[in-house]
Amino acid sequence: MPRPPRFPPTPRGGSAVTTAISGARDVVHPMSILAWASGGPTAGSPRVGPEPPPFPHGPRPFTLAPTLDRTADYDAVFRVVRGAVHYVLGRERPGLGLALSNLPPAVGAYWQVAGNVIVMNEGLVRAMREHATSTREFNSFVYVILAHEYLHSIGYIDERSVRQVTAQVTRAAFGEDHPATRMAEGDLWQLYPFLSYASGGDGSRIRIVPRFDLASTQTYIR
Ligand SMILES: [Zn+2]
Repeated sequence: MPRPPRFPPTPRGGSAVTTAISGARDVVHPMSILAWASGGPTAGSPRVGPEPPPFPHGPRPFTLAPTLDRTADYDAVFRVVRGAVHYVLGRERPGLGLALSNLPPAVGAYWQVAGNVIVMNEGLVRAMREHATSTREFNSFVYVILAHEYLHSIGYIDERSVRQVTAQVTRAAFGEDHPATRMAEGDLWQLYPFLSYASGGDGSRIRIVPRFDLASTQTYIR
């Protein structure tokens, strides 16, 4: 159980560099955090925004897409994220944890560089659950936030490249008419203005989601 982070987290060297999916550039600005943290990755280093390889998936369909149409827990949605990234980019990273926290409404989630836990804003999830008009729309929201942080964790550190690759992966996996694609290509806070008014906090409360990322961990943790 990690200690609750102060928010915005203060970078202290590479391991505390934080990337966040955020609707307000003045609250969290990942590039300025990266530039500020000594020892963190810098633009031009191999860890910042590698160019995505050509999509290797060919004509076969992405079979996990229908999962977002049914009631699904975080682990199930995350399996879709991992599957989509693997399907499109041929890459994966096992063993990430998920926690929920009372973050400010302008922050969707964050992930600490070199850490292994994605911390998601519980207040935004609650607001989206109340406002979403379909299961697909709600699950797509969770998918996009998790995909953004997951792609950070596999090496797309800078914010612009992670947004681009999240959009590319999502469009290739789900097609252009899917709400996940619209959310990945747009801005969540512009698409859903109610998110800005969701109840939030300072990140002082944090709880780990149990049994998360089972699909990747169960193969080597016995
Ligand atoms: Zn981000």
